[in-house]
Amino acid sequence: MNTYDVAIIGSGPGGYVAAIRCAQLGMKTAIIEKYSTLGGTCLNVGCIPSKALLDSSHHYEDAMNHFEEHGIDIPGEIKLNFKKMIERKQAVVDQTTKGIDFLMNKNKVDVYQGMGSFKDATHIVITSEKETQEINAKNIIIATGSKPSSLPFITIDKERVITSTEALSLSEVPKHLIVIGGGVIGLELGQVYRRLGAEVSVVEYMDRIIPTMDSAQSKELTKVMKKQGVKFYLSHKVSAVDRKKNEVTVTATDKKEQEVVLKGDYCLVSVGRRPYTDGLNAENAGVKVNERGQIEVNDHLQTNVSNIYAIGDVIRGAMLAHKAEEEGVLVAEIIAGQKPHIDYNLIPGVVYTWPEVASVGKTEEQLKEAGVAYKSGQFPMRALGRARASGDTDGFVKILSDATTDEVLGVHMVGARVADLITEAVTAMEFRASAEDIARMSHAHPTYGEAVKEAALAATDNRSLHV
Ligand code: FAD
Ligand code: NAD
Repeated sequence: MNTYDVAIIGSGPGGYVAAIRCAQLGMKTAIIEKYSTLGGTCLNVGCIPSKALLDSSHHYEDAMNHFEEHGIDIPGEIKLNFKKMIERKQAVVDQTTKGIDFLMNKNKVDVYQGMGSFKDATHIVITSEKETQEINAKNIIIATGSKPSSLPFITIDKERVITSTEALSLSEVPKHLIVIGGGVIGLELGQVYRRLGAEVSVVEYMDRIIPTMDSAQSKELTKVMKKQGVKFYLSHKVSAVDRKKNEVTVTATDKKEQEVVLKGDYCLVSVGRRPYTDGLNAENAGVKVNERGQIEVNDHLQTNVSNIYAIGDVIRGAMLAHKAEEEGVLVAEIIAGQKPHIDYNLIPGVVYTWPEVASVGKTEEQLKEAGVAYKSGQFPMRALGRARASGDTDGFVKILSDATTDEVLGVHMVGARVADLITEAVTAMEFRASAEDIARMSHAHPTYGEAVKEAALAATDNRSLHV
């Protein structure tokens, strides 16, 4: 039987990054993945394919609606080749997952393909179509991720009533896509299909989309996406989803208990994801799973069984690839005897619509609720020369800082490339910068980043230079 210092179950961004870090630290490491490709949700049916389709559909939308204003005339009709777009997405996924094979090989991590399940606290049985194997490991990291969740009365048939997984591989552009849930997945994939010509209706239970982000961001993104033609049904509770042949009927009730009936050809259910522990047999190792289905962990991401750890979507916290990665590194270093730390307040959140939406730290709602006295500085993208040059004038940067110390407490952005700009805010907050610190740093001109400096100037002393 093969024996390891560490065995990792699941090869998503949590698992594969943990494997690399364990190997770097000199541990004999194995990784177990039930699918034939590595990379988990993120690389196969999550972050990477959704961004490939967002980028492709963005090019199409530019060609259809914006080339002309830049003085680019395309003789003849612009035609969508959706099959090719999906094939390209798959090629990007294939290339990226092969990259993980390379990384495992380079770091001498043993890869086992098959379903991993606990025999006891130090033994894992790996079952594949070909064979059943057993390995022994001193330490085990559970990184089994998550799966789409649904509502009790909905049958996901994977053809017309679908999750993100199917929405990333459709064979046609829907005529009318009804999206249940105005969160990250619903908005990103809703925008993809809107750009490709579908009518898109988003039904959201709360009174605003992306309800966990700053309300100014919800407002701005709603405004822009409405302009793009997306219809929103906010404060609507879905009560039934019925499919008859190629037609899907979604019934919802609004705040006044009025029934709204929507008919479309596809319904995307994007109401969140659930931790995935099916078939893991965690109970054989004595590992506790809480009532939400998450593996229970302490601050060191250690389960109630001292040699077993858990990371990523299968434990508490934001379901984000970069959060899972940080946790993978943390656990590897803890097993190696180091004392690493993650500041969960500084894990940024991004929605990759266009304009993009990015956040770090506390929202204005959270500061109000906590009774923290704060200052707010905001700067509109439309006042930037760079934004006018590219034509991306929607959005803003908002900086919230402590009223007494001026320490930056939260940064919230909507606009072009803010997914990349948020890193500046994370860096500043990691070093506990004040708004004035950011305001006094030189930002290259002309860039979208100048909005960060200008918002910091606004927060410091209401002294933005360009509004
Ligand atoms: P996962 O990536 O889910 O990986 C878990 C792996 O474990 C899977 O491969 C699974 O097959 C395997 N597994 C499970 N059980 C077993 C078992 N018993 N034996 C063997 N293998 C097993 N996050 C971002 O930060 N940015 C984004 O842009 C983003 N976009 C997304 C878009 C979509 C459409 C979706 C669905 C998600 C997106 N996410 C994004 C979320 C991100 O994908 C997850 O947070 C991330 O993948 C979690 O990583 P993980 O390692 O915890 O688990
Ligand atoms: P989400 O939690 O982002 O959004 C779910 C939305 O559905 C919420 O707005 C919620 O209020 C709404 N909702 C819940 N129940 C409802 C109901 N009965 N009727 C109508 N609306 C309802 O979840 P998601 O969009 O499914 O994404 C799942 C996870 O994947 C998220 O945790 C997210 O972090 C991750 N993800 C991240 C990215 C990214 O980082 N860019 C992209 C995609 C997915």
